[in-house]
Amino acid sequence: MRPFGALLGADEAKAKLLGAARRVQRVEDAPLDAAWGRVAAEDLASPLDVPGFARSTMDGYAVRSADAGPRRVVGEIPAGATVLPKLGPGEAARIATGAPLPPGADAVVRVEDAREDGSFRVAPKPGQFVDAAGSDLARGAPVLRAGDVLTPARLGLVASVGLARVRMLAKPRVALFSSGDELLSPGKEAQPLRIFDSNTITLRALLAREGAEVFPQPALPDELDALRDALRAAARSHDLVLTSGGASVGARDLVVDALRAEGEVLFHGVRVKPGKPLLAGRVGEALVVGLPGNPTSALSNASIFVAPLVRRLAGLPDAAERATRASLGADVRGEPDRHLFLPVRLEAGRAFPTFKGSGALTSLASSDGWIGVPEGATLAAGAQVDVHGW
Ligand code: AMP
Ligand code: MG
Repeated sequence: MRPFGALLGADEAKAKLLGAARRVQRVEDAPLDAAWGRVAAEDLASPLDVPGFARSTMDGYAVRSADAGPRRVVGEIPAGATVLPKLGPGEAARIATGAPLPPGADAVVRVEDAREDGSFRVAPKPGQFVDAAGSDLARGAPVLRAGDVLTPARLGLVASVGLARVRMLAKPRVALFSSGDELLSPGKEAQPLRIFDSNTITLRALLAREGAEVFPQPALPDELDALRDALRAAARSHDLVLTSGGASVGARDLVVDALRAEGEVLFHGVRVKPGKPLLAGRVGEALVVGLPGNPTSALSNASIFVAPLVRRLAGLPDAAERATRASLGADVRGEPDRHLFLPVRLEAGRAFPTFKGSGALTSLASSDGWIGVPEGATLAAGAQVDVHGW
């Protein structure tokens, strides 16, 4: 056993990790239907006016607002019309919502404001119920700015200027390893004294949700050379190498030794519960994070430290707004020297702790998210807490 040195506080560890992260520089050109939730790589200026022509915002009559008295209806303009009547004095044309205004017209009178005899209840004002050409987006105006998250509305805006593809940041590439001689892949036959690897699937889902391109790797044995080879090889072609298992200080916990041999250790050991053995460092250009193998520790650490790290690498903003405010359903006693991350279940705006013990994946599976309890704090039932969804 090689005991931990001084442990970092949770905030300090997170800051150190985020401070070491650099947003991916790689850019790719991809179709809009693969772009949702991605990050725009560069400014995009509109190549044209939207709308490209003055159009009616109502079903009604296109008119010349300067005319007086009843109008003579001389035509009909549906959306998509390509031939437009030219309005002379005293003339109007029926027009559909979205249809182009005919030459001569400068206003639209709504159907409900028109009478049978061609007169109108209210005299039309110039420009009424008309979208001028370029009124939504003028040619040259910004459609996207570098760093914008590609939301559904922004993707629609890109499509509205006629583009089918967009330049976006590449997803951070994450190599995902589990380690431990006892591990067996799900789908294989159960074997006595071995356990199924659950971390790979849990972490894969979490990483993908935060914008990573995940490359799951075969489980590693508890052997220094194998761990070193894996770190070295994976670091060459990934932005982040994430391991679970073997991160603690037991004789067979060799990830820290492998990391030290192949690169540098940023920190090892954080004052959190669960997940104290958290390990971070780098090998070449790649960041390396070693999670403890215990599934609750691995998921807890991943939610708190790795999710924001991946978002930082991806160029995505912090996801703090995903937290839900709730009132605590029971008293919670913190730990004197560990920041506690407690799984909770949400029920009608109240948060109930589900923690059963650090090995119990069911205490997480039955929870909706976690709350943080600072070192030494005691939270009384009824206190307002932020529940961070898994
Ligand atoms: P370790 O961090 O390697 O000391 O592992 C702590 C505990 O987590 C042990 O009981 C391991 O068997 C278990 N464990 C390690 N890796 C995994 C994994 N990928 N899936 C499920 N359990 C694991
Ligand atoms: Mg182990």
